[in-house]
Amino acid sequence: MFTLIQLPYAQDALEPVISRQTLEFHHGKHLQTYVDNLNKLIIGTEYENMSLEEIVCKSQGGIFNNAGQILNHNMYFMQFAGAQAARLPQLQGTLLDAINRDFGSFDNFKAEFEKAGTTLFGSGWVWLSADKDGRLVITQEPNAQNPITKGLRPLLTMDVWEHAYYLDYQNRRAAHLQSLWQIINWQEIERRYLECC
Ligand code: MN
Repeated sequence: MFTLIQLPYAQDALEPVISRQTLEFHHGKHLQTYVDNLNKLIIGTEYENMSLEEIVCKSQGGIFNNAGQILNHNMYFMQFAGAQAARLPQLQGTLLDAINRDFGSFDNFKAEFEKAGTTLFGSGWVWLSADKDGRLVITQEPNAQNPITKGLRPLLTMDVWEHAYYLDYQNRRAAHLQSLWQIINWQEIERRYLECC
């Protein structure tokens, strides 16, 4: 049985970048539905005792869609630090060195990431991942896809399904993506990078 992850911050902690109302729907309704659906779908199947990552790598159809959305949203919600983000130490060290090496500069990385998010047609996710050599790549993944199915190690993601931003930004996806940098907990992203690379 999978359960809804608990957020490490208050429902209004991400305002004004993500409103309390959006968070209540996104975490409390959309993600809860994926959890409920997956739990129903895996009963009595080979997936019943697998981890989310294993299910995402081995399944298809409805089981894949719901497991992928849970994995994606868990990584998404756990990467934010709310109002504290500005007070955390800025990104430095190994991950920043890798970003500078692979994208030229931190600003250029952010510009490329935002472009990948705004040009992704339809619903999906934009990801920063590391390959097996620790090299960083940005990928666009449709619907519930996650870069682990390509052998990559996902580090950072932005959700470009309309449910992630429509209440606050309506059709202005680019403005939403640009604002998300304010609440990224770079210590968490660095931790993910050091863990895998
Ligand atoms: Mn979402």
